[in-house]
Amino acid sequence: MTASSYPEEAPGTDPNTVPNTVPQEISAAVPGYGDLVESSPDALLVVAEDGTIKMVNTAAERMFGYARGELVGSDHRMLLAEGFRNGLERLFFNLRRGAHTDGDAAAAETDTDTAPVEAYGVRRDGTEFQAEVAGSIFFTGTGPRDGTGNGSASMIAAVRDTSHRPENDDSLREAMSLLSATLESTADGILVVSSEGEIAGVNNQFLTMWGIPREMLATGDDEAVMAFVLDQLRDPAQFVEKVEALYADPAAESHDILEFRDGRTFERYSRPQKVAEQVVGRVWSFRDVTAAKVAQDRITRAMADLAAQSAQLKALAFRDGLTGLSNRQLFNDRLASALADRHGGAVDVLLLDLDDFKEVNDILGHHAGDQMLIEVGRRLRACVRPSDIVARLGGDEFVVLLLDSLEPEAVAARIVDSLRVPVWIDGTMLRPSLSLGLASIGESAVDASELLRRADVAMYAAKAAGKNRYMRFKPEMMKALVDRNDLEAGLRHAVDNGQIAVHYQPIVSAGSGTVTKVEALARWVRDGALVPPKHFIPAAERSGLIVEIGTEVLLRGCTELKPWLDEDSSRSLAVNVSGVQLQHGDFAELVLAVTESCGVDPRQLVLEVTESVFFEDDCHVIQQLMTLRAAGARVALDDFGTGFSSLGRLQGLPVDTLKIDQSFVSMINSGTEQLPILNAMIGMAHGLGLTVTAEGVETAAQAGYLMKLHCDSLQGFLFSGPQPEATLQPALDRAALAIAALRGDRVPGNR
Ligand code: C2E
Ligand code: MG
Ligand code: MG
Repeated sequence: MTASSYPEEAPGTDPNTVPNTVPQEISAAVPGYGDLVESSPDALLVVAEDGTIKMVNTAAERMFGYARGELVGSDHRMLLAEGFRNGLERLFFNLRRGAHTDGDAAAAETDTDTAPVEAYGVRRDGTEFQAEVAGSIFFTGTGPRDGTGNGSASMIAAVRDTSHRPENDDSLREAMSLLSATLESTADGILVVSSEGEIAGVNNQFLTMWGIPREMLATGDDEAVMAFVLDQLRDPAQFVEKVEALYADPAAESHDILEFRDGRTFERYSRPQKVAEQVVGRVWSFRDVTAAKVAQDRITRAMADLAAQSAQLKALAFRDGLTGLSNRQLFNDRLASALADRHGGAVDVLLLDLDDFKEVNDILGHHAGDQMLIEVGRRLRACVRPSDIVARLGGDEFVVLLLDSLEPEAVAARIVDSLRVPVWIDGTMLRPSLSLGLASIGESAVDASELLRRADVAMYAAKAAGKNRYMRFKPEMMKALVDRNDLEAGLRHAVDNGQIAVHYQPIVSAGSGTVTKVEALARWVRDGALVPPKHFIPAAERSGLIVEIGTEVLLRGCTELKPWLDEDSSRSLAVNVSGVQLQHGDFAELVLAVTESCGVDPRQLVLEVTESVFFEDDCHVIQQLMTLRAAGARVALDDFGTGFSSLGRLQGLPVDTLKIDQSFVSMINSGTEQLPILNAMIGMAHGLGLTVTAEGVETAAQAGYLMKLHCDSLQGFLFSGPQPEATLQPALDRAALAIAALRGDRVPGNR
C-alpha cells in the first residue's frame, strides 16, 4: 500500500484498499496532506472514540511492525505496553474536554492534561520501546465542533520513539511496570485523586468493588462517579464529610468504615500522595471486609448470647426453681456477708418448717404439695421487707434473714399468722401451719453455721411444744437436741441388747363375749422407767431401728402367745407395722418365715398399719400386704379417723378391719348423745365388708354405745391395759368378765 492509495480518495470507495478513513475535512483543507502524513518521521494514528484505529501512516507500520491492514480496525491498546494502555484514552478524553470547555482544541492542548504522554509501545514481535505520544482532536460529521451534534470526535496520535533519549531509564520503566502489576494484583481497590480533586488513576479492583463501568470513568465526569459511589452507601453524608475534611487537611491520614446499602462493608484508608515531600494528591484504598465483619458480628452476637445465658444460669443457680425464692446457696452467701460486714446491726435468722407437710404431699399428691409450697413462699415474702432474704432450703423448709430489724419477734409472729388464712388447692381447703425457730446474733460472735443450728434447735422446740408457733432460741433448748440424739443412741443400745419388751392388750369380741385378739405393743424400759412408744417409735422410724424392733415384737409375740393361740384357732395376734418396715426389703417373706419358725398359722396374725402407708400409691407396699393376706393373715387399719382419713379411699385397699381411733371413742360420754360420725364409720366399714374394732374404750357407756352400733370388737382399759406375758392370763380373764357383764351374760364365756 502506498501513500497515493488513500489520502484524497473517499474512504472505503475502493474495495481493494484498506479503508483508511481520513476525514475529508483534512484532505480538503490540506492539499497534499497525504505526502505530508506519509513522510512524517513520527508514527501517526487516527483513533476513534471507541479506541479503534482508523488510519495509520507508513512510520506507524514501521514502528510497530504491523501491516496497515492489521492495524486499521484494531484497538489501539494492543500497541501499548501493560500499565500504559489507558494513557491514550485519558489523553483523548482530556483533549475532548478541552474542546468542550472552550470549543477550541488548540487551547485545550495547552493544558497539562493534554501534553504529550510518556508510554511504552509494543511491537508486533512483543518487544517494547519507550515513546512519547502527542495528540490532537478533530471532529467529523455535522453540528458544532465540540462534538455535541451528529459528528464524532477522533484523535490524531503522533507517536515518537524516544528509546534513543539519554534520559531513558529502564529502571523507571521497570518500576512503573512493577507498580502497575502490584496495583492490579492487590485485593484492595485503589483510587488516586489529584490535589485538584480529579481522578488521576484507579486499579481494576477499585472499579470491580464499586461496580463502576470503565466507560463512566473514561468520561472524566468525576461528579457522576461520585454520585454513583454515594448511591451505594448507607450514610453518604458521612462519606462526603470525611472527603471534605481530608481535603481541608491534605497531609492527614484516615481510616474509617463504609456501610453499603446491600450489606457490604468496606474499610477505607486514605493517605496523601507525595512527590518530594510535596502533597500532590491523595490515595484512597478500599478493602472489602464484609466477610470478616459478618464473622465478627457473629462472634459478637455469640458472645452476647453466651453472656446473657451465663447471667441467666447464674440467676438460676441462686433461685429455687419451684418458688422463685432464693436458694440455700444464696442464703448462705448473704448470711456470711451479713456477718462479715456487720457494724453492730442486728442479724436474725428465722428457720421454719411446715407442720405435717408430708401428709399433704402423700394424700393430695405432689402437685398439690408444690402449690402449697409456692403459696407459702408468696405469703412469707409478704411478711418481710423487700430487702430481707427469704429462701427455700429444700422440701418444706424455709429460712428468712432479717438485717437491722428492730422487731424480729413481730416478723416471726406475722409469719406464723400468715397461714391462718386457709390455702385453697385444686378446690380443697387446707389449713397448713408451720413451726418457726428464731435465732439472733448476740453480744458474743457467732458464726453462720452456729446461728443456723440455733434456729434449727428453736424450730424443733416449737414443733415439740405443739407446732404452729414460733420460739426464740434459748440455750436450754440445746438440751432437747442432745436428748434426741441420746434417745436414738439409747434405743440402738436397747435393740442390740434385747431390751425391747412386748406387752399385750386383749381385744374382746362383742359378738361372742370372749377375748379373740391380743395386740402386741413394744415396750422399752430405760433406767427403770418406761419410755412411751410415742417417743421412741418415731425415733426408731427415723433411724431405721423400727425394722429390728418390729421383727423382735413379732417373734416374741408368736413365741410367747403360741400356747394361747393354739388353744383356739379363731384367736389371733395383732402386731403394729410401720410404713418403714413395709418398704424395707421383702417384708411379707420375713413375716411368713417368722410365723413358720414359731409354728403359728398366718391366719392367726393381724397386721396393723396406718393409712399413711397407702398414701404414696406404693405398689411394693400393696404387694406385700396382698401376699400376706393371700397366706391368710389379716390387715387392720389402725388409728382410723386421724390425719386425712377418708372413707371413700377404703374401697379397694387390702384391709380387713378398721380400728376406730380412741379420739372418736372418747367423744362418747353418757352414751346417750348423737354421734353420727361413728354411725357413719361403722356403717360404711360394714358396707365394705370390713369388721370394726373400737380403740381406747374406757367406760361402760362407751362400750354400750359402740355395741349398739354393732361394733365388732372393743379394746381399751375398760377391759385391760397392755400387760407383760407373765400377767397376761389374769388380764385376759378380767377382759372376758367385763365383756360378759356388758352383754348381760350370766356365765363368763372365757377363762
Ligand atoms: P396403737 O397401735 O393404736 O396402740 C394402742 C395404743 O393405745 C397403745 O398405746 C395402748 O397402750 C393405748 N391404749 C389402749 N387402750 C387404751 C385406753 O383405753 N385409753 C388410752 N388412753 N389408751 C389406750 P402405746 O402402747 O403407748 O402405743 C402407742 C402407739 O405406738 C401404738 O398405737 C402404735 O401405733 C405404736 N406402737 C406400739 N408398739 C409398736 C410396735 O411394736 N411397732 C410399731 N410400729 N408401732 C408400735
Ligand atoms: Mg395398733
Ligand atoms: Mg391405734
